[in-house]
Amino acid sequence: MDTKQVVIVGGGFAGLNVAKGLANKSGVEVTLIDRRNYHLFQPLLYQVAMASLSPAEIAQPIRGLFGGSRNIRVIQSEVTGVDQEGKKVNTDHGDYPYDYLVLACGVQHSYFGHEEWEAFAPGLKTIEQATEIRRRVLTAFEMAEKEKDRQAQKKHLTFVVVGGGPTGVELAGAIGEMSRYTLAEDFWHIDPKLARVILIEAGPRILPSFDPKLASRVARDLEGLGVQVWTSSLVTGVDVDGVDVGEERILCSTVLWGAGVQASRLNKALEVVRDPQGRIVVEPDLSLPGKTEIFVIGDQASFSHYDGKPLPGMAPVAMQEGRKTAKNILAELAGKPRQPFNYLDKGQMATIGKSRAIVEYGPIKLTGFFAWVLWLVIHIYYLLGFKNRLFVMVQWAWAYLSQARGARLIVSKEWRFYQPKPKKEEPKNL
Ligand SMILES: Cc1cc2nc3c(=O)[nH]c(=O)nc-3n(C[C@H](O)[C@H](O)[C@H](O)COP(=O)(O)OP(=O)(O)OC[C@H]3O[C@@H](n4cnc5c(N)ncnc54)[C@H](O)[C@@H]3O)c2cc1C
Repeated sequence: MDTKQVVIVGGGFAGLNVAKGLANKSGVEVTLIDRRNYHLFQPLLYQVAMASLSPAEIAQPIRGLFGGSRNIRVIQSEVTGVDQEGKKVNTDHGDYPYDYLVLACGVQHSYFGHEEWEAFAPGLKTIEQATEIRRRVLTAFEMAEKEKDRQAQKKHLTFVVVGGGPTGVELAGAIGEMSRYTLAEDFWHIDPKLARVILIEAGPRILPSFDPKLASRVARDLEGLGVQVWTSSLVTGVDVDGVDVGEERILCSTVLWGAGVQASRLNKALEVVRDPQGRIVVEPDLSLPGKTEIFVIGDQASFSHYDGKPLPGMAPVAMQEGRKTAKNILAELAGKPRQPFNYLDKGQMATIGKSRAIVEYGPIKLTGFFAWVLWLVIHIYYLLGFKNRLFVMVQWAWAYLSQARGARLIVSKEWRFYQPKPKKEEPKNL
């Protein structure tokens, strides 16, 4: 049997699961390409942004994951395009030929046509963004402590989170909790408990994908942490001094964005059918219509073969799609037909602060402490690497007992300080 070249783009939940399914299997050589050298456990990113965890605790080097697999090559590179006719993936340093291509590039934030807002309102998708959010939130408290002018102090102590989905809810809850408990005794001139946290949602309620009763419970929990929840409120402007919500102006120095996502930039470069969110529409076996050798999976894909509604961008969807793709490639190589993808719904969950969460699994709906314990166990279970699991468990146990947030470091974004200094000019020989 010829050895087939499988190129996987993206080492997220989807891409990793394809690679794991093909690891050490005969008949396939796999090239896994990612622009980063690590796999990032995005569901715990907000814990980094809110200083509960350090970046290394939620990331794992991709190369290390496949050290023992003789047929998997890992390449750190930016994929810039796909030559579908020539069956080649274009990267920033050359091309990779493929027999099978799996695209699993995920999504990026959407500012609904206002990309200029990004500088004032970072989203939460990468470690760089998480540490930047941490820097901004902690710096705001430091600035308020030094400030003599009451109005300016108030501005520093006002935090706006845009978007009432799980990310926005988790961020707003964590800032509320940090100001009321973690930082409460740390300052001399300000009372962090007076921080104003506003969660803004354009729709009529927060957490639209959850049961309305669970969403109302979360709204109450957030209010208990001092978060004001503004629904049916459309953000019309964001700048260095604050946020416009219709006619209203909120003066604040920290704005965080959790409002929407858009498809990978790569999608625009491909000749494919896209859904209104820009995701690539796939066949029941997750391949491209008319191009059976190309699969698109995870957040990058739009799979709507059950009820016409695309599957949500969630880790279990990406993982299951990854596993199915590996199985279908191996089945085809063994001369068997491909099977359509069937999603096993694992429900959804969100956490609010240190010890509250909601869990929805079919008719089962849980809230409060028990839901939080379940949330914790599931997140630790899926975290890659024993060391990460152990560290995270210890961190959480400590944070739970002490109210501490151990990673409260303000790390400068002035990375230019770390650039090598220009060499002094050698004196010329006369
Ligand atoms: C803050 C946050 C919290 C979340 N919480 C939850 C949760 O609690 N539960 C849940 O189920 N889901 C959650 N999600 C969603 C979940 O993380 C995603 O659905 C999942 O990561 C999708 O996996 P993926 O493999 O499709 O994409 P990703 O995990 O985004 O991976 C894509 C990979 O492709 C790489 N890549 C992209 N473009 C290129 C390119 N051009 N060249 C090379 N490499 C490229 C990226 O570097 C990345 O490694 C959360 C997401 C975020 C951002």
